[in-house]
Amino acid sequence: MNLLFSNPALENRFRKMVHSTTNEIGGWLCIRCEPHTWPIKFSWRDTKAALMGREADRLLFIESVVMAPNESNIPANEWSAWDWQKAKEMAAETAKMHDAFLLHFHTHPNNNSKPSPQDLVFAGSLCKVWSQRAEFCIVTPDPLRLWGHSVKFGTPANPDAKPAYECGQFFSWRMKALKQFRRE
Ligand SMILES: [Zn+2]
Repeated sequence: MNLLFSNPALENRFRKMVHSTTNEIGGWLCIRCEPHTWPIKFSWRDTKAALMGREADRLLFIESVVMAPNESNIPANEWSAWDWQKAKEMAAETAKMHDAFLLHFHTHPNNNSKPSPQDLVFAGSLCKVWSQRAEFCIVTPDPLRLWGHSVKFGTPANPDAKPAYECGQFFSWRMKALKQFRRE
């Protein structure tokens, strides 16, 4: 999936949060097909079309971020929520308020955008969007990029099949293509 923050202020606050620590941080992104907080006078539909062309419907807007404390004993190399079930319930309530759906994210401070073997196990059990597919986001800090991963696991008929990956694009408000739409 392809990702863009609904407004530049949210992207800047998220960037500061990511850069404030060398540990992994994580939680959920509240994602929508249409932004609630688009700050510019131009149509977000035109922006979508300009960035994505015919694939415009595959661009999703990050409307809000829910952070969950990292409880891992090795927080520089791993993220694990302090109570996964409670954290997810809180995130789900927040997403409801934004009329959004949830996408798990965590950072890789070493700038590696690829999911680790543990990430795939985690995604397979806790990030499923439907039976064989999981979606989640890995964030790398320098420069800030959000990698929307979609993983298709083996089917019951073929459980040993290797997982198939897709990774989308991230569009930053720092890009020239977006700057031309900015009001100030
Ligand atoms: Zn990871």
